[in-house]
Amino acid sequence: MAGTDRKQAGLSGGPPVILHQPQLGENIGLAARAMLNCGLTEMRLVAPRDGWPNEKARAAASGANEVIDNAVVFATLPEAIADLTHVFATTARPRGMVKPVLTPKAAAVALRTLLSEGRKAGLLFGPERMGLTNDEIPLADTIVAVPLNPAFSSLNLAQAVLLVGYEWLQAADATPDFRHWGGGDEPAPKAELMNFLERFEAELDDCGFLRNLEQRPTMVQNLRNLFQRARPTSQELRTMHGAVRNLVDKRKS
Ligand code: SAH
Repeated sequence: MAGTDRKQAGLSGGPPVILHQPQLGENIGLAARAMLNCGLTEMRLVAPRDGWPNEKARAAASGANEVIDNAVVFATLPEAIADLTHVFATTARPRGMVKPVLTPKAAAVALRTLLSEGRKAGLLFGPERMGLTNDEIPLADTIVAVPLNPAFSSLNLAQAVLLVGYEWLQAADATPDFRHWGGGDEPAPKAELMNFLERFEAELDDCGFLRNLEQRPTMVQNLRNLFQRARPTSQELRTMHGAVRNLVDKRKS
């Protein structure tokens, strides 16, 4: 599948994802897929409505078989969370319970802290139609609510798993926000850029392009900003030097 590279070392581990009384096999499969996308591999199912295993879940998981194959079914929610010391319950509606309500981003940091301290923490998701009941929420320590349009904040179960899982992954992901594209070449050091700009400006002075002394500072600023923005590599600056040299030689010959 595009974007899937089985030769790469996969991410795994992380907190268990507990789906409480999930109704549709498709949603279980899509949740498994979202989990594996985010490096979460332990799925717990509490009384899935249509039984388990479920072929619709496997099909929807699109290859996230390690999550589907290792999913463990429990009869009740208390059994599913029995070994955990901290449960994060996700809900679209915080319900005014006396509990901390965290964004997925803050929950991810809290989860990583707990896990690094050797505690066992899990992420709990409710059934599609009704979500977690007011009797189930008190079994959890913390509420996680994805802040969305207040008038339409209820997510599809698997999409909720994806958003929360994504933040879990983000909290430890070192991918820089901005990556210079193009073969990993770094922008040239500023000294090289300055050296080119000074030469370029000297040639533009020489050919008379910058002769209007009133406009010259603005024109130089514009040119410098343009080249700074382009973040040229050393190779690109060598090309520009060559281009300027050829234009100058042509003019003078
Ligand atoms: N109709 C239910 C929503 C059920 S959606 C309700 O209004 O509560 C199924 C599950 O997805 C929820 O139980 C919850 O675990 C998760 N979910 C949906 N929207 C969410 C949101 N905005 N923030 C956090 N979890 C959400």
